[in-house]
Amino acid sequence: MKLLVVGSVAFDAIETPFGKTDKILGGAATFIGLAASVLKTDVSLVSVVGGDFPQSYLDLLESRGIKTQGIEMVREGKTFFWSGRYHNDLNTRDTLVTEVNVMADFDPKVPDAAKDAEILMLGNLHPSIQLSVLEKMQKRPQLVILDTMNFWMDTALDTLLEMINKTDVITINDEEARQLSGEYSLVKAAQKIHTMGPTYVIIKKGEHGALLFHEGKIFAIPALPLEDVFDPTGAGDTFAGGFAAHLAKTSDLSFENMKSALIVGSAMASYTVEEFGTERLQKVTAEDLRTRVAAFKQLTTFEVDLYFD
Ligand code: AMP
Repeated sequence: MKLLVVGSVAFDAIETPFGKTDKILGGAATFIGLAASVLKTDVSLVSVVGGDFPQSYLDLLESRGIKTQGIEMVREGKTFFWSGRYHNDLNTRDTLVTEVNVMADFDPKVPDAAKDAEILMLGNLHPSIQLSVLEKMQKRPQLVILDTMNFWMDTALDTLLEMINKTDVITINDEEARQLSGEYSLVKAAQKIHTMGPTYVIIKKGEHGALLFHEGKIFAIPALPLEDVFDPTGAGDTFAGGFAAHLAKTSDLSFENMKSALIVGSAMASYTVEEFGTERLQKVTAEDLRTRVAAFKQLTTFEVDLYFD
């Protein structure tokens, strides 16, 4: 299946307890696309950058087999810029700068060749942009996956709810699920979010893994306990990219296969956090991914015999 991704292609400047970067390649669609490219997925990006965006970054994406015809360049504009500083626990961060720049007037253009993509991954963006991409598809994709955040709940709730209503799979973190649903229990939160539209709800819990909810069933995975977490930027996007790409590669949109997709996404994200930005993700090989998926299996497989007398 073909995968179409809309989201930011950006410059990021990151500070962690271990160091800081100047402007490096970032953006939700970038991480999603790179993750999908590890599985050699037929993936197209829809985004916008400014005249300051280096051709070498576009070449890098192309060299990975990512289709970039849908990345518009506004020569007189500047690329979206985000800067963040992580706290010592690496779980929380402060956004220092968000310069929306060319993203402010972004009118997404979907290349004709991608209009029939079976899977549409809507990366974290204003929900009206996400809606407009869905409307530009030739027909409704077989699976619409939505990533969003609390910022849109605070500033564009009605449009976000309209978008959520047209979504099959929503990925959201635990605090955002609580905010969206008004429920503290994540089980109740997922039930409420189901009533808003998505039949699949994925709740991300950072270093505590993720939950997948569907028709009363729950599947839970841990995050791999890593020795070194260096920079969590893009982990959520990488997870979503690996998840969507596995579904696209297998052409299987069942709940059972989504369980596997969750593992693939998490294995992929476990690499992203090891170096700054996209650096580690760019180097992930098929062999790497096999190793981490095997580590997940070992971590989560067990048998219990109960003895009562
Ligand atoms: P994550 O760590 O998964 O939340 O994603 C971080 C990526 O999201 C960075 O590469 C940023 O460039 C991008 N980003 C941050 N804020 C926004 C925003 N408001 N809209 C679109 N992309 C954003």
